[in-house]
Amino acid sequence: MKDIKSLVRGNIASLEPYSTARDEYKGELGILLDANESPFGNGVNRYPSTSLKEQLRSRVADLKGIPAGKLFLGNGSDEVIDLCYRVFCEPGRDNAVIMTPSYGMYSVCADINNVERRMVPLDEAFTLPVAELLQAADSRTRLMFICSPNNPTGNAYNLEAIEFLAQSFNGILVVDEAYIDFSPKPSAVPLTRKYPNLIVMQTLSKAWGMAGLRIGLAIANPDIISIFKKVKYPYNIGTDTIALALDYLQRDIRPQVETIIAERERLAALLPSFKCVEKVWPSDANFLLVKVSDPRGLYNALLRQGVIVRDRSGVKGCEGCLRLTIGTPEENLKLEKTIAEYES
Ligand SMILES: *Cc1c(COP(=O)(O)O)cnc(C)c1O
Repeated sequence: MKDIKSLVRGNIASLEPYSTARDEYKGELGILLDANESPFGNGVNRYPSTSLKEQLRSRVADLKGIPAGKLFLGNGSDEVIDLCYRVFCEPGRDNAVIMTPSYGMYSVCADINNVERRMVPLDEAFTLPVAELLQAADSRTRLMFICSPNNPTGNAYNLEAIEFLAQSFNGILVVDEAYIDFSPKPSAVPLTRKYPNLIVMQTLSKAWGMAGLRIGLAIANPDIISIFKKVKYPYNIGTDTIALALDYLQRDIRPQVETIIAERERLAALLPSFKCVEKVWPSDANFLLVKVSDPRGLYNALLRQGVIVRDRSGVKGCEGCLRLTIGTPEENLKLEKTIAEYES
């Protein structure tokens, strides 16, 4: 395994980060004439408080059982994905290995940053192509993206395979665990203790029910976290967002997660009884990938009844497939009824 510092772009390694007014003076009491804010109080006239953000970071770190120094909070996981490219990949020179089909942002961020992407297809069973992923990498490969449980296929990968990649790959392995809360498989987070080249991404957008807040997590060794903090926009998470997240994190989401898992299993067992359904893949996430005889026809029939699903039939490896997010039990019932009417 290479030294992490040798993987960071030269200009980023030597970057002198922007220092905010609140970096210089961390207090919040007193007459603040340092940041060119409006002096008239309305709840959000001040830039976000560093201590409130740190409170959120500690709270999330506690929940994840890691020290706060191993946690970065981004403006959604999408900020973390973009930071990976900006920190580790020299545009026009370096490349990233990405499994496909998977989450589209790995590719979009590669394109935005002018980083060559090497797409490695999954087979029909969507197994992790460990050998192919490693073969696709060369001396210019800085990043490898693994999504587990994978979007849109729904399956999660064994930790042994992920550990083997972390061990064998000479770059940064990014494991996206956006759906880990719905999976019985263990998280790769504990592996970050052993592998300094491993970044595990999670999010508050899915099981935690805070997609509207935009908070994504990167869990990695503290060296990587410090570099992310240097490169991110100052104040990347707003005051109200931090406050709401602190509040919502106190709620127990387990009953909701259990309901979604139970509904997922119920639908996975029931959907194959419809004539139009050819295959339902097992899922460790909060959605099901379903192969149907006429994806566009079913999509439109559902749409006419106000049920909106994701048409993935145009995605290579997902031909004929719709992706159905698990809703509330009532919403899922409406889905079932609409499919039944469509068939009759
Ligand atoms: C939904 C999703 C995310 C979450 O992105 P946020 O920017 O945190 O909302 C990340 N990765 C995958 C694979 C997803 O499907």
